[in-house]
Amino acid sequence: MMLSWENLIGHAATVAYLKKNIAEEKFPHAVIFSGAEGVGKRLAAEICAAALLCERPVDGAPCGECENCHLVAAKTHPDFYIVEAEATKTTRNIKIGQIRAMQIEAALRPINSARRVVILDGAELMNNAAANCLLKTIEEPPSQTIFILLTASRSSLLMTIRSRCMTINFDRLTAEQIRDALTARGVENSEAQRLAVIADGSFGRALKLKDSGGAKLREAALDTLEKISRAELSNEEIFKLGAQMAEWSRENFADFLTHTQKILRDVCFAEELEPHNSDLLSRLSKLKISERKIFLMIETGAEFHRRLKSNANLRLLAEAYLMSLRKAAVSG
Ligand SMILES: [Zn+2]
Repeated sequence: MMLSWENLIGHAATVAYLKKNIAEEKFPHAVIFSGAEGVGKRLAAEICAAALLCERPVDGAPCGECENCHLVAAKTHPDFYIVEAEATKTTRNIKIGQIRAMQIEAALRPINSARRVVILDGAELMNNAAANCLLKTIEEPPSQTIFILLTASRSSLLMTIRSRCMTINFDRLTAEQIRDALTARGVENSEAQRLAVIADGSFGRALKLKDSGGAKLREAALDTLEKISRAELSNEEIFKLGAQMAEWSRENFADFLTHTQKILRDVCFAEELEPHNSDLLSRLSKLKISERKIFLMIETGAEFHRRLKSNANLRLLAEAYLMSLRKAAVSG
């Protein structure tokens, strides 16, 4: 993707601020981009890197044509360094070895440009040793190096790191911004509208949902609840659904659970809270389940979210969940 500010969705005031700082050569030496997953922090950081390393930046924007711009976009620029979490089977984290390797590079004189830029994506995923190691560099940064830390959980960073970095907040995107960006990518209008509503302000999540059939999972959740509320969910139906769900990934099943929980909350708190599924209100109003039963159903969902983390067989788990949900809905 072209590293151009025009490709970043939303964040107009933040972008203006970043461009001004770059143009005036006042970009901070260590900065935290804080905001939810998928709102554009990484793209913004890469555009900053390109603009900071570009030979002919224009008002804080990379020219997009010089060698440095091309090398940053290709992630092969010798003065541009990215640290990312490494995933193992069970966890994702940034290890001290990765920070040490980065520090060796960051201390070198820049090769192509006047400075170096380091992006640390997922800063909250540093373990303690890695964070303390990074702290030493942030305390006495090499004069020519700029550090951009990205995090979805600023409060889990060391206080000492937070206090030495300027923080720039990236808000959640509006549903309209996400919808427009999706339609610009060729997603059909009504589908874009549905995805935008359930993406919860994250364009990255909207794209993921699009690829995983996220809107379909929500529809499956609502369809199941409608059957339960009409007492039409038979054992036979449950076994059929269980067989279908056994083909899903665990992540998809977790999303199905989450959609079910959100729908139940919407039904229960329709008067008090901003609904998660504002586009479904007329269908939601037809779900006739008492408040007490809905609480039981939400508890059931929380319980199965926990059980999903074990290695339980997905088909058995899905069947047990649907049985428990139905039981909660008919309990006296
Ligand atoms: Zn350039």
